Amino acid sequence: MQLHWHRRDLRVADNRGLATAAETGPVAPLFVFDRDVLDHAGAPRVRYLLDALAELRDAYRERGSDLLVARGDPRTVVPAVAAALDAERATWGIDYSGLARERDADVRLALDDAGVAREPVHDAIFHPPGSITTNAGDTYSVYTYFWKKWRDRDKPDPYPEPEADDLADAATLETAAEGFADDEFDVAVGDLPTISDLGFEEPSASVQSAGTEAARERLSAFCADAIYRYADDRDYPTRDATSRLSTDLKFGTIGIREVYAATAAAREGVGGERDESVEEFQSQLAWREFYAHVLREHPNVVTENYKEYEEDIAWRDDAEELAAWKEGKTGYPIVDAGMRQLREEAYMHNRVRMIVASFLTKDLLCDWRHGYAHFREHLADHDTANDNGGWQWAASTGTDAQPYFRIFNPMTQGERYDPDGEYIKRYVPELSDVTANTIHEWHELTDLERERLAPDYPEPIVDHSERRERAISMFEAARGDD
Ligand code: FAD
Repeated sequence: MQLHWHRRDLRVADNRGLATAAETGPVAPLFVFDRDVLDHAGAPRVRYLLDALAELRDAYRERGSDLLVARGDPRTVVPAVAAALDAERATWGIDYSGLARERDADVRLALDDAGVAREPVHDAIFHPPGSITTNAGDTYSVYTYFWKKWRDRDKPDPYPEPEADDLADAATLETAAEGFADDEFDVAVGDLPTISDLGFEEPSASVQSAGTEAARERLSAFCADAIYRYADDRDYPTRDATSRLSTDLKFGTIGIREVYAATAAAREGVGGERDESVEEFQSQLAWREFYAHVLREHPNVVTENYKEYEEDIAWRDDAEELAAWKEGKTGYPIVDAGMRQLREEAYMHNRVRMIVASFLTKDLLCDWRHGYAHFREHLADHDTANDNGGWQWAASTGTDAQPYFRIFNPMTQGERYDPDGEYIKRYVPELSDVTANTIHEWHELTDLERERLAPDYPEPIVDHSERRERAISMFEAARGDD
């Protein structure tokens, strides 16, 4: 018997750990609700997780098996379940975050003590940390060089799905679970908790449909059309030109090889701009791997600046301004639209994420960690490596970050990427009767004009030009410049 511990690989297809276990099956699949992980989660992510697990369980049931579902500390649960099943080996996909690594090191030791072999595998990304390095053997801090190596490396094909014969039958799993009836932790077969059992309220945001089927639909729709417009349109939030696969990739309801293979197929026989557009999309997949490498090498980036400044950055951290940002009431329309999209959909378009993150750090002069914590709570696709990478990029504290003196102007960003104000009006109904031109000049209107046009929409809470100067001075002081 083999035990496969599902974590961020909630699928049966293109799953390297599961396929490895199935080579010498039968495989018993396990998921563990870990309180330490749940303590860092937000309701939208828990919603997606539960829906994805229900689909995963059903995929096993269709194959005559089921999913073992446990609640407890994996350090004790995984070896105990392995023992109950008399499993020879446990497999799982490696997670590169610091918290997971500490936990997994303990699980490995506990399995050793229990005499169970273990085989953690690289599954979530193509090229694991340490496999793409500078000539001196260091992790890249500049993306372009990383990308060139990533692009030129061979990419393996998807791993095969297990057949019914490769899996432990449901009755065997039931017998193993019965042994835990009075234990310090629960182990059940296919019995998923509700969101409130886990201590969360149903999210108010409408979270994207979860699971492999939904992910595959998104992938095939994207590869049939938008992938060829991606390079031109990806920065425009109303053009629906991105894949929307981030939550699926975060939870692993679809495998990276399957995604890449679909993009490679879309690339076949097309030349010129269409070919370049597909490559542009592939380069976003490489950003995801770049940040995974950074996190693996520098686990402290979750709480600390990647880039060292000579002095501390004198962030302002004004509670009222931070609250206005979180609520989407800054009086900067594109910023407010983005922050409201986040609350409504547990998602935000990438260009707008960059704008709101720049606004928080460079206009409100607020520490990026507050923004990261808010995103972590509200994004369904929150991923430690990518979220941190995005925040530290915007805050000019990260790897290959935005230079501190290049500061987005939120009004011109809105004008350029949402020229008709369509995105803004979708999320900021107070501005629905205001023309796009006037929306993009909101900061220049008089109080009287603003009151007449949209009485319920706030005036800008800060003056961008003044804050821009202050941001530059703040960074120069941190750099030790005169
Ligand atoms: P697509 O454009 O279709 O991209 C395809 C995939 O590539 C994405 O699903 C994602 O897995 C990956 N990707 C794309 N852009 C990036 C990037 N800049 N960095 C790393 N991977 C990328 N992405 C997350 O997955 N989780 C996060 O928590 C997250 N937080 C962010 C915070 C900030 C401040 C910023 C600026 C960006 C953040 N991103 C994050 C990156 C990016 O915004 C999202 O991946 C993207 O908007 C998701 O939409 P999509 O799937 O349609 O993207």
